[in-house]
Amino acid sequence: MDFTINTDDQRFLAEVQQFLTGLAGTGILVSGTAAWEHAAEDRVRRWLAALDVRGWCVPYWPVEHGGTGWSAVRRFLFEMECTRAGAPIVPSQGHRLAGPTLIAFGNDAQRASFLKGTANGTITWCQGFSEPGAGSDLAALTTSARLENDAYVVTGQKIWTTHAHYADWMFALVRTSTGTKPRQGISMILIDMRSPGIAVSPIETIDGQHHVNTVFFDDVLVPLGNLVGCEGAGWDYARYMLEHERTGGAKVPELRRDLDTIATLASLVGVESSPVVESGWFQRRFADIAIELEALRWSILRVLAGDPSCPANEMASILKVRGSELQQAVAQLAVDVLGPIMLSPAHPFARDAAAALSYLGFRRAATIYAGSDEIQRNLLSRALLDS
Ligand SMILES: Cc1cc2nc3c(=O)[nH]c(=O)nc-3n(C[C@H](O)[C@H](O)[C@H](O)COP(=O)(O)OP(=O)(O)OC[C@H]3O[C@@H](n4cnc5c(N)ncnc54)[C@H](O)[C@@H]3O)c2cc1C
Repeated sequence: MDFTINTDDQRFLAEVQQFLTGLAGTGILVSGTAAWEHAAEDRVRRWLAALDVRGWCVPYWPVEHGGTGWSAVRRFLFEMECTRAGAPIVPSQGHRLAGPTLIAFGNDAQRASFLKGTANGTITWCQGFSEPGAGSDLAALTTSARLENDAYVVTGQKIWTTHAHYADWMFALVRTSTGTKPRQGISMILIDMRSPGIAVSPIETIDGQHHVNTVFFDDVLVPLGNLVGCEGAGWDYARYMLEHERTGGAKVPELRRDLDTIATLASLVGVESSPVVESGWFQRRFADIAIELEALRWSILRVLAGDPSCPANEMASILKVRGSELQQAVAQLAVDVLGPIMLSPAHPFARDAAAALSYLGFRRAATIYAGSDEIQRNLLSRALLDS
């Protein structure tokens, strides 16, 4: 495999850099620890509007649905460059989950209604899978959808639903019948979040922020036309959805950006006048993480380049486990560099220290969401033992 950046790629990167330079002063790109905060909805929308002008909103979608036709490696370079420049991270629910699933299994009417808006951010999504008692064991879900005339009547509860407080739509797994196996009788439906009978209740997480919610459904009417694919096939669509994005879980572009920020901060803050960057403990930990991150980046490039020695499903689990561990290591390093400053609210870097603490809190969730570490390890061991 050849990963050399050729002249064409260099020209491409120069074009991307020029585009990013043109966004200076718009407030879309942020630097330093400001990039660790969750991007406000409006900033994401403005970023997508800027990308839309270039036709760059959804590089990884098929060209006929708005994709760019770039190679996988070039898409990764694009993502690295935009993240490095401080572009907001676009929530995965629309671009990475709902869009590709509707492209694969939705009908023409659904594609016509949702794809364009999902790509350019005028339609936002949340993922209604987890329920109390049905997280890792997702097939235990009980939210029911019974068909009455031309509509499903949905009753039940979802939990940990990211962005349900502002999403326009939810793609939800619901039980449309009780099969002999728990995975049977599950369907995927699209629910308008403004429907009567929906109540969204916030959950504040340990990072002190509000991203996730509980969503209650009390006889919510969902038109039959909002069923994705076939009734009872929801489990297969959910698997497709979760396996579709194999490399994003590692969050390498964000980690690279955040490690650079930590290096800068470590050269600016110090213990008794000598900057942290000169301390042996910092240098050792920074080097360990940087090496691991570089290895992860190369692993991703190998997957993207279709290296046959990288079985895609196993690699998805490996990348998720290593990526989430590294996210926590990077966040812990940030807190160790900036932590003492929290005792001095008037310190010039006090805001960065608070951002680091919140970042550490949020990264705790990385080993839980999108398939916990334990579940990923189970999947891996099963795949290896079966092979
Ligand atoms: C920040 C955040 C955002 C989220 N966003 C969404 C969202 O938008 N939509 C959505 O549907 N869900 C979302 N989730 C939910 C997430 O998918 C679940 O939290 C996750 O699947 C784990 O389920 P659970 O919380 O019920 O824990 P449980 O499944 O009860 O697991 C508890 C612990 O037991 C371990 N465990 C469970 N089963 C096994 C097993 N068989 N072998 C070994 N260990 C096991 C788990 O690894 C975990 O450590 C989010 C979660 C978080 C933290």
